[in-house]
Amino acid sequence: MSMRTISHLIKPQTVAEGAGVSLQRSIAPLRSNEYDPFLLLDHFSFRNPRQGEPRGFPMHPHRGIETVTYMLEGGTAHRDSLGNSGFIGAGSVQWMTSGRGILHEEMPRKSERGGVNGFQIWVNLPAAKKMTAPRYQEVNAETIPTVSHHGATVRVIAGQFLETQGPVQEIAAQPLYFDVRLDAGATFTQAVPSAHTVLAYVFEGDGYFGAEQALIPATHLVMFEPGDEIHVRTDSGVRFLFLAGAPFHEPIVPYGPFVMNTLQEIQQAVRDLQNGTFVTA
Ligand code: FE
Repeated sequence: MSMRTISHLIKPQTVAEGAGVSLQRSIAPLRSNEYDPFLLLDHFSFRNPRQGEPRGFPMHPHRGIETVTYMLEGGTAHRDSLGNSGFIGAGSVQWMTSGRGILHEEMPRKSERGGVNGFQIWVNLPAAKKMTAPRYQEVNAETIPTVSHHGATVRVIAGQFLETQGPVQEIAAQPLYFDVRLDAGATFTQAVPSAHTVLAYVFEGDGYFGAEQALIPATHLVMFEPGDEIHVRTDSGVRFLFLAGAPFHEPIVPYGPFVMNTLQEIQQAVRDLQNGTFVTA
């Protein structure tokens, strides 16, 4: 077994998206596709009860990707052009495969304590699946298994931790997506396919990551080098999102909420939107 070392760290940048929502962005879709199959990682966290409802993301399209929303506090009200609507509450996940296209609205809602805390990740689709039918996997907080193991508390959203399989299934990128909390003194070890992309988004506390046991404090995204095992330990407690996925090694052309493989496919998406032929249920 080769324990992975750290490739580099990313400090999230504050960006404004949607109707002026302030986000902490660690990954943005770029042609360089350095985090293949992960295209975007946003953390939205607000706490200001004196303001009204946080502004959200009015109707917008997606094509060629999967958008994954995971809420820790508050929620996100959503509805789409196919007639789906619902509420992603605290602890819940929506894994939305846009495929050839949906138009949807995503509106953050504060908790009773006045906070919103959540994540949105975009995962790429391979060329052969970019124009598939849209698909939702909605997972309630109660249905996400939580595994406690020697001071580690792991919510398993996708993939397998120890003997426990996450509820999100049949995703092209074969992802692991865990919410990992380590108590003081605890460790986390996870086997990963050696060529898959592996990321850890550290958002509370601090811990020692990788073979070099580098101390990483919140808030940072850790990108790992290839290898087949990840190791984390902490003295005082840490919480992080753990992500792994199979890279597709295909060229990408991102354009706003679309990520396709060629410029022609982007131009087609824009034409479909203009012609009213974008959504074909
Ligand atoms: Fe969206």
